[in-house]
Amino acid sequence: MGELTLRGVGAAPGVVAGRAVVLGTYVSGETVALERRPAEMERAREALDAEISALEDIVERLRAMGRAGDAEIVETGILMAKDPVLLDRIEQHIMSGQSAPTAISRAADAIAHVLDGLEDATLAERAADIRSLGRRAAARAVGASLGSGGVLIATDLGPADVADLGLAATGAALADGGVTAHAAIVARSLGIPMVVGLGPEVLELKSGEVVVLDADEGVVVRRPTRSRIEAANQDRERRQQARETARARRNEPALTTDGHRVTVLVNAATMAEAVEGFELGAEGIGLLRTELPFLDAQAWPSVETQVEFLRPILARLANRPATVRLFDFGADKTPPFLRGTAKRGIDLLLESPDVLRAQLAAIVEAAGDAELRILVPMVVHSDQLRAIRKALDEVPGVGQRRPQLGAMIETREAAMSAAAIADVSDFFSIGTNDLTQAALGLDRERSRTAPATDPRVLRLIDVTVRAAHAAGLTVDVCGEAGSDPTVLPVLVGLGVDELSVAAARVGEVRQWVRELDYATCRNAARQLLDEAAHARGERV
Ligand code: PEP
Ligand code: MG
Repeated sequence: MGELTLRGVGAAPGVVAGRAVVLGTYVSGETVALERRPAEMERAREALDAEISALEDIVERLRAMGRAGDAEIVETGILMAKDPVLLDRIEQHIMSGQSAPTAISRAADAIAHVLDGLEDATLAERAADIRSLGRRAAARAVGASLGSGGVLIATDLGPADVADLGLAATGAALADGGVTAHAAIVARSLGIPMVVGLGPEVLELKSGEVVVLDADEGVVVRRPTRSRIEAANQDRERRQQARETARARRNEPALTTDGHRVTVLVNAATMAEAVEGFELGAEGIGLLRTELPFLDAQAWPSVETQVEFLRPILARLANRPATVRLFDFGADKTPPFLRGTAKRGIDLLLESPDVLRAQLAAIVEAAGDAELRILVPMVVHSDQLRAIRKALDEVPGVGQRRPQLGAMIETREAAMSAAAIADVSDFFSIGTNDLTQAALGLDRERSRTAPATDPRVLRLIDVTVRAAHAAGLTVDVCGEAGSDPTVLPVLVGLGVDELSVAAARVGEVRQWVRELDYATCRNAARQLLDEAAHARGERV
């Protein structure tokens, strides 16, 4: 049989060959013969042990990265894997003739079902954890292991899943998912190729079969030919070499051929991303997404917890920009304790003044010698910036080194009131991910495209840059458009001063800037805007 190609949409670039690890259901009708059941039990026990040691490994690495909170969550998984109740149930299933993967899945599901029935939000969360543990251990019993660099296959993943699995997976293929959902952002940031929107056929893959995931083409290929596997391995090597080149050039500035300087910063939500960004030449952090580490939180994080997360990252930024964004919870970043909320970003914080005060205090306390910039997400009105400024001025100790306060321009309302918002801001950061979807009326979590070059989006960016520059403010772009080679020259041409991009893209973006001619970019951007205005004029 020849190759079988499943088509989806590339969400994080790269090509990899590897064994599939299907995070799905492993329940089969197969009956294990009586004499083979003790061996089957041994197989289940080994799968659980392997999962425990993989999780212990991850805990160690998370602790080394300063992610103590994440490490604790993974430790809960270890405790569950060691629970004798789980093992007892697995044994009962196996002794009744079920295979190890089926027994593990059924036992985990049964325990999760009991937890689901309890009216306690914390325990309900544990239900999801035990199901996830069951899926991973069952995958191991099937013979596949993420630890060996597998290609993860799943229906969908949350951003936290990708961050955890990112420590082991070499690629991810999803039946659902959107290219701008946060799971895709984390995958891009960690340099994990990802294809989304493959449809239910991808879940028919068998754990352990060799596949090639080509995220540049947006496909997953079953039964790949030897030459396709070789090409995938070469692609991986090429990416590794490009990384080495970027590392070697990390101290050279990103200057266009005609001498225009563009500052390149890194987007991060973890120490690992920040460190990788600096390795590749990032001049600071342009967007620290503070909400991503707390997506599993059961309550607003305390000042201490936040300082524990922020301090080790900011400690690496003496006299360099550290742009810390206030919590941007809501939509696909809604932790259990905020379930049911329709609000997002700064709206949520402004309705909880104590929470806002606590976050500002934590950021100021953790800043150390970093050049601190505080960024406000989902702004729609200048009054929101005024309210944050007032709260910031009241934080004890803030007077000595006053942080800059910036507005994210990622809603149509903000772009249209950019001049008023500029009056009360120290800098702007354009969030092209949300702005693009808002300008074009798309659904960010499901959308297959994010065309920031659409004239409706460019016009909002242009208005924003003009308002900022008229007020003497710097403008950054921290959305994904900044690392899209087709959009980057237009952004530079529109006058964007700084680009903040995923860690894995920092080296490339710096190199692309070095290959641009600023005068040409300016003319091209102007021409695009003129053409769009002309087209609008004709239609009227
Ligand atoms: C954006 O919207 O462009 C952005 C950078 O913010 P986030 O992706 O975290 O919503
Ligand atoms: Mg956003």
